[in-house]
Amino acid sequence: MPRKHNPFDNYKAVLDKAAELLGLTQNDYIILKYPERSLRVSLPIRMDNGEVRVFEGFRVQHSSSRGPCKGGIRYHQDVDEDEVKALAAWMTMKCAVVNIPYGGAKGGIQVDPRTLSKGELERLTRRFVAMIMPIIGPERDIPAPDVNTTPEIMGWIMDTYSMQKGYAVPGVVTGKPIEVGGSLGRSEATGRGVMLCARMLMEKLGRSLRGVTVAVQGMGNVGSVAAYLLHREGAKVVAISDISGGIYNENGLPMEELRPHFAARRTLAELPDGDFERIDNDGLLACGAEILVPAALENAISRSNAGNVSAKFIIEGANGPITPAADEILEANGVTVVPDILANAGGVVVSYFEWVQNLQSFRWEEDYVNDMLERTMRHAFDEVWALAEEKRASLRMGAYMSALKRVVGAKKLRGIFP
Ligand code: NAD
Repeated sequence: MPRKHNPFDNYKAVLDKAAELLGLTQNDYIILKYPERSLRVSLPIRMDNGEVRVFEGFRVQHSSSRGPCKGGIRYHQDVDEDEVKALAAWMTMKCAVVNIPYGGAKGGIQVDPRTLSKGELERLTRRFVAMIMPIIGPERDIPAPDVNTTPEIMGWIMDTYSMQKGYAVPGVVTGKPIEVGGSLGRSEATGRGVMLCARMLMEKLGRSLRGVTVAVQGMGNVGSVAAYLLHREGAKVVAISDISGGIYNENGLPMEELRPHFAARRTLAELPDGDFERIDNDGLLACGAEILVPAALENAISRSNAGNVSAKFIIEGANGPITPAADEILEANGVTVVPDILANAGGVVVSYFEWVQNLQSFRWEEDYVNDMLERTMRHAFDEVWALAEEKRASLRMGAYMSALKRVVGAKKLRGIFP
């Protein structure tokens, strides 16, 4: 069934707007409306009960104009080719905004991983790697974690690729466990980048995070770290939610107490009652917090609920959480949005650091990783802010313009083959 909001159409609509602001012609950027390469694979897996099931997987490489393709792998029942295409295109833009030498890619398998045993999950992952093997590699296309994929899964990817090659190739994937070449700071990097963007936004407005109220949707890798680090910076996290619902306390949630629960269970569903009230995801959007961090899935804020958003500032932890129609409503309501390709770029920045360490067989200290991440994010944020001011446009347009300049510039320098 076609999606109600096709994320690849959303991407193209935003791309056209930014290109127009920059005065680009279709010739300059039409190539960015198509992925360079898209691979669809069938993955037969022997389940624990002896049955053979076939899953569908994708790896899409959107652009390699600025370097090897880079992007995560998602395991979710709603994954389809258009979603993976959009996620790959956003990666091209994201790597360009933060000026790291990568193009964009993404992968996905249409599966609800909660229904698989660990053995089934491992067999599925290894079969997927075998099937996309011809197009990935440390100089070609480097996967990483995304929704429902973990460092452990990245370790299986590294192992499968290395076994085929006959020697260890840690640089084929990032987000690995530290023991097999992962980088210190990688697992917190996306959430840290979200926190840094919130802090830099407040600084631009002459404020700090101290006492600012925050609501976070999604308590996975991105949302849980962002919520905790925002709390550590002095913000008051009043609401959090995941797929099972949410919790709210106008005086701030006990983040230190909640942290071990998330580390162990990764879900709000089994949280015993405490000093908070239960809310649903719509309640979270309207809860009155000044900053909203959507950190679950795309299209969480659409035309139908954008008018209920009470926040003045949105930091997009997730990819594509706001549809173009919702974006217009939020802009009309005076909401400032730090867009996904900037706000959640911390993950790919530290993935880049991990890859650099792997290629050099060298290890960086965590403080150095975090410091380099902050410098990279600050540089990108300042550039986006300046471009948005110059063109009197939103930060989303500022980010896309900044990215487009780099990608189109690289394309022009390289020319069109043959
Ligand atoms: P994750 O699987 O670790 O967590 C996803 C969270 O979203 C879970 O808490 C889940 O319960 C919640 N969720 C799912 N559906 C929901 C719904 N309908 N309502 C409310 N909550 C819901 O995933 P993640 O890695 O944290 O990724 C989250 C988003 O951030 C995705 O859009 C992803 O593409 C993006 N992102 C992730 C990274 C990364 O490094 N992991 C980097 C950049 C962007």
